Amino acid sequence: MQVELNNTTKKLCVIGDPVLHSKSPLIQNTMIQALGLDYVYLCQPVRAGEAARWLECARFAGYAGFNATMPHKEDLLPLMDELDEDARLYGSVNTVCIKDEKVYGYNTDGRGFFQALLDAGFDPRGRRVVLLGAGGAAKAVSLKLAQQGAASVTICNRTVEKAQALCGKAPKILSPAGFDMDTLQALAASADLLVNCTSLGMTGAKGQFDDLSFLEALPAGVPVCDLIYAPLETALLARARELGHSTLNGLSMLLYQAIFALEHFTGVSIDAPAMARRLAPLLGA
Ligand code: NAP
Repeated sequence: MQVELNNTTKKLCVIGDPVLHSKSPLIQNTMIQALGLDYVYLCQPVRAGEAARWLECARFAGYAGFNATMPHKEDLLPLMDELDEDARLYGSVNTVCIKDEKVYGYNTDGRGFFQALLDAGFDPRGRRVVLLGAGGAAKAVSLKLAQQGAASVTICNRTVEKAQALCGKAPKILSPAGFDMDTLQALAASADLLVNCTSLGMTGAKGQFDDLSFLEALPAGVPVCDLIYAPLETALLARARELGHSTLNGLSMLLYQAIFALEHFTGVSIDAPAMARRLAPLLGA
């Protein structure tokens, strides 16, 4: 993948720590090239606690914007001049646009997840969702599901206090639960959709599910999603597939949040499903 550079090329990047493993430069530069845009997208390591310093550097260096991953998403929130509804709702920013001396914060994670679900034919509206995890990704996913009309979202987390705190943001739809096998089995039995937002099963992360028998309690036909995209099929998804459930990995969410971010950066409207289909083979799908 090659991007043509000239003196007017606008700069974008992803910041994080760690960030060198990020797929964002590959995804974004491929889109930039496909759309014939005069932008380049770089990878910029920024240490924890240095988001404000980076923002000053980006403004000074004339960046058009940047994406943020761990550990900067929350730190950027108070630094923005304006926030979109989702960034305000989740309390975190994954896309920053710098325009006319002002900084605009967006969060495209929840929208990316929702679009990926709809694409896969899993419409969560009016459905009972069981969601595993209460970290940053779970926050965006659960609040988007609540906003878009899920009937209920039960948030099961090892640290139940984190689930309780998250549920306080939409108490009519979200409810907290534990992460023990009895709880997971009981909840799975009445679920319409199961979503894993923990890091269990991710390449390079510590920990796997010790026991996947709760999947056996899911009613037939209930879809199972995992936000993880490396590996493309986690042990959770492999077991769910063996049991006859439709499955969805985190790849299309990753692609859609990137597509929506590029729309914010450039103001260009992108045929998102067509672009996601074009990008998927880049990441091994
Ligand atoms: P995070 O904020 O660090 O949250 C991690 C979550 O996993 C927490 O709920 C944590 O529970 C749980 N967890 C970790 N180890 C566990 C264990 N041994 N047993 C039980 N629970 C455990 O991470 P995040 O940013 O939310 O990301 C979570 C996953 O989503 C990652 O795999 C990430 O790659 C993926 N993700 C994918 C996309 C995408 O575009 N597809 C976007 C964002 C994230 P505690 O609260 O108890 O610690």
